[in-house]
Amino acid sequence: MAGEKLLIVEDERALLKILRYNLEREGYKVAEASDGAAALAAAKKEKPDLVLLDVMLPGLSGFEVCKALRREGEVPVIFLTARKEELDRVLGLELGADDYITKPFSVRELLARVKAVLKRTSAPKSAGPRRFGTLAVDFERYETRLGAKLIELTPAELKLLKVLVDADGKALSRDAVMERLYGPERSYELDARSVDQLVARLREKLGGEAARLVTVKNVGYRFRADP
Ligand code: CA
Repeated sequence: MAGEKLLIVEDERALLKILRYNLEREGYKVAEASDGAAALAAAKKEKPDLVLLDVMLPGLSGFEVCKALRREGEVPVIFLTARKEELDRVLGLELGADDYITKPFSVRELLARVKAVLKRTSAPKSAGPRRFGTLAVDFERYETRLGAKLIELTPAELKLLKVLVDADGKALSRDAVMERLYGPERSYELDARSVDQLVARLREKLGGEAARLVTVKNVGYRFRADP
């Protein structure tokens, strides 16, 4: 859907003009900058939904602009590159660009890239992490943190954590945990002991928050959300 705001960063006036004309015709709002410093100022002020970023700019290069944008947030960036060496650098550096297009390009091709990147990046964001004390778990992004520290959980450990968290404080038997982890088709060779082992490994990784995984005697486990 058009209506999004694009920031074009390009020092070739003629190209800038063509881009602006065509993007506006498609219904996008357009802001422009013709050097790196102006680009950063405009990004701050205009809060664009996407940045089209020329690599060779007077002053700060497109690479430096991209790095600075990345420090500020997650605005998608499409690089406009003129030469093979620039393209090599775009691909070689971990700049976090969302796409690139090499000059000369057709307007139609550019519009297609813009549309695709906007579609991809405007997908609903993750609901965000669930927080329990110093523990923050983002089940959609597979990201778990203790305080600021990222901790590595295996898929099984993360799934176990999700099963217990989703039970909303209720205790689950080992069997119920197994079924939720592996489905009704689960192999019965995996016995209750493997749940215990998984819980033990997860507790070890949760450090100071390990006590949230409560053993319920003769039943199984539950997750304690409150402190
Ligand atoms: Ca240029």
